[in-house]
Amino acid sequence: MAKHFLVVAEQSEGVLRKVSFEMLGEARRLAGSEGKVEAALLGSGVEPLAEQLAWHGADKVYVADDAALQLYSAEAYTTVLADLVKKIQPDVVFIGATTNGKDLAPRLATRLGVGLASDCTGFSVDGDGKLLITRPIYAGRAIETIKLKSTPQMATLRPNVFPPLEPDTSRKAEVEKIAVNVGPIRAKVVGFLKKEGEEIELTEADIIVSGGRGLGGPEGFEVLRELAKVLKAAVGASRAAVDAGWIDHSHQVGQTGKTVNPKLYIACGISGAAQHLAGMRTSKVIVAINKDPEAPIFKVADYGIVGDLYKIVPLLTKELQEVLRG
Ligand SMILES: Cc1cc2nc3c(=O)[nH]c(=O)nc-3n(C[C@H](O)[C@H](O)[C@H](O)COP(=O)(O)OP(=O)(O)OC[C@H]3O[C@@H](n4cnc5c(N)ncnc54)[C@H](O)[C@@H]3O)c2cc1C
Repeated sequence: MAKHFLVVAEQSEGVLRKVSFEMLGEARRLAGSEGKVEAALLGSGVEPLAEQLAWHGADKVYVADDAALQLYSAEAYTTVLADLVKKIQPDVVFIGATTNGKDLAPRLATRLGVGLASDCTGFSVDGDGKLLITRPIYAGRAIETIKLKSTPQMATLRPNVFPPLEPDTSRKAEVEKIAVNVGPIRAKVVGFLKKEGEEIELTEADIIVSGGRGLGGPEGFEVLRELAKVLKAAVGASRAAVDAGWIDHSHQVGQTGKTVNPKLYIACGISGAAQHLAGMRTSKVIVAINKDPEAPIFKVADYGIVGDLYKIVPLLTKELQEVLRG
């Protein structure tokens, strides 16, 4: 029975990522009032974050607080979580389908000898109490529903899909510190180099302004950044723009880039190739700006503007600046 959930919270530099709250919200919804929603929190100096997990639905938080866990390490995190799962035996384990989560989840599933459903976008409880899991396949062209027979059922959840609960600061959770014994680590992360002035993380953004080959050059992204600034949006790109060297690969949306699910996706000078759509077609509202009325992007767009993006985007920026200021 899917009554006992373990949500692996994700934090970066002492800040919990939004997907942690989204997973708790979904676990809470599925577990109902009788079920148990627990969270695992790994890191160094992270114990104060446990209360936020309680506010968002956790009944209990297992805290693994150790210098060895300060930076994400696949080996160390897998060892700690495998020990925890064996000890508490949850029915379901949720991990974010983030860069770290996509690295961690398969390793943990293998260590536990269980199946894993990745990048999931929906759950329901079947008659036997097991979860029915919905996930896009074939680059988003089809949706499958599966049931994992092994226990715990493990899944990674696509960020920005599941609504978090409204935080209730009166909610408390039991906090249990767990012993950390990671053993010898063969591959050690010694540090992260952060990009200067990096904008909002693409996979967590509510709004994305994205550019493709139609920009004609790297200067086009400056025009998009103006619009992004007004909308507090992240900047995305097609592979053509990335391959041309106009913008870093970390901005690429699509099959070989990031999967995003914002409330609003504005595609500028992007034709809408299947591999690009694979990463953004589940966006809630899609706006396409393209000078070719036959561009395939218009087939998935909720709103289409046919025209030169260099005329339209500055106009949009100006109008929105005024509307949003007022
Ligand atoms: C295995 C594989 C993986 C791939 N992975 C990805 C991926 O992750 N992400 C991805 O994006 N692609 C991916 N691709 C590439 C994909 O097939 C397309 O080649 C790519 O998405 C095209 O990018 P684009 O739409 O920017 O360029 P184009 O297809 O060249 O489209 C440019 C568009 O801009 C329009 N345009 C031109 N000038 C203007 C203007 N002034 N104003 C308005 N519109 C204008 C044109 O009408 C055209 O529609 C992958 C391909 C393969 C084979």
